[in-house]
Amino acid sequence: MPRPISAVVSLESLSHNLAVVSQSLNCVCTVAHPVVPRIWAVIKANAYGHGITNALRGFARADGLAMLDLNEAVRCRDAGWNKPILLLEGFFEPSDIAVADQYRLSLVVHCQDQLDMLDSARFDHPIDAFIKLNSGMNRLGFSEANYQTAYRQALAAQQRGILGALGKMTHLACADDNLAITTRQIQLFNDTTSHLPGKISVCNSAAALTPGLWTQVSGQGEQWVRPGICLYGASPFADKTASDLGLLPAMTFSARLIGVQTLAKGAGVGYGHTFIAPCAMRVGVVACGYADGYPRHASTGTPITVDGVLTRVLGRVSMDMLAVDLTPVPGAHVGTTVIMWGRGGPSVDDVARASGTIGYELLCAVAPRVPKTVVMM
Ligand SMILES: *Cc1c(COP(=O)(O)O)cnc(C)c1O
Repeated sequence: MPRPISAVVSLESLSHNLAVVSQSLNCVCTVAHPVVPRIWAVIKANAYGHGITNALRGFARADGLAMLDLNEAVRCRDAGWNKPILLLEGFFEPSDIAVADQYRLSLVVHCQDQLDMLDSARFDHPIDAFIKLNSGMNRLGFSEANYQTAYRQALAAQQRGILGALGKMTHLACADDNLAITTRQIQLFNDTTSHLPGKISVCNSAAALTPGLWTQVSGQGEQWVRPGICLYGASPFADKTASDLGLLPAMTFSARLIGVQTLAKGAGVGYGHTFIAPCAMRVGVVACGYADGYPRHASTGTPITVDGVLTRVLGRVSMDMLAVDLTPVPGAHVGTTVIMWGRGGPSVDDVARASGTIGYELLCAVAPRVPKTVVMM
């Protein structure tokens, strides 16, 4: 028998969460903004750890898919995805352009080197491109000062049949917690791009789920939002839980107890004995460790459920095991189910908070050695 650990992905939850985003965009649709944005489901990093094939099924109703990896994009086309695919970092070398051409991939163009590579490339069909503005994230994108020139070069490439449909894009740095900075970024985007033709893409999960943000984005073109994390049932906000937002966890990460120890008062647990039993107690040993993607920084007290009962992690997480407090679950025994996060367990965001990180990192880090199964429900 393989180790008793698994990550179960719910296709139903993936499509439910997509519908939540869709409804949230719809409900602020007004006379002034009659056209609801379209949705690119972001499936980078193997669909935030959920598997590309699962994402393709769960997000069948999305208007497009956005990701980073050329091979993942090719897999989506090979699996029959016919709607748009956007490569969020564009391409890395000239030979990538031929693949983008062959598989009808849309490219983000964020720097002069990419524009120049496109100009001198030879391919069969015009390629759709989003020209990215650096509006304050200071990661990728043309500066405000260089944007017009870059966009004109893209328009000229369009005239020559190199580029097809053009769009304007930026990425928000603080949409989850700072409305002032976000509004300033959107204003800069509007001022720099609204007179230029083309589609528009600005909002990530946090922005798409904040009423009144996508409606601040201006320009004539069709707007596309780019939600990622919320589609997997985790919250982009520190102060709102996924369930507050009506989202359902798409991944349930579970394992079983493979050992039970009865400790005397004063006994230590695990490497470094960072937890010392304050009284006699039972401790369960779970078949899940940091080599499975459970965070090693999860401290004593991190929530976890055993047989449906909320309890806590004790001591240091080892490579292949972790220890839990069985005090509230006296009936637990070898074989009892443990849920690290997901349906019937704590939220991934709760585990992340107790480990000094964010749900994004935990979902992406579930190790390849953990078998992933898929359920409709
Ligand atoms: C990851 C990413 C997103 C999605 O962000 P979430 O916070 O997961 O919604 C959108 N756009 C770009 C450019 C990204 O890199």
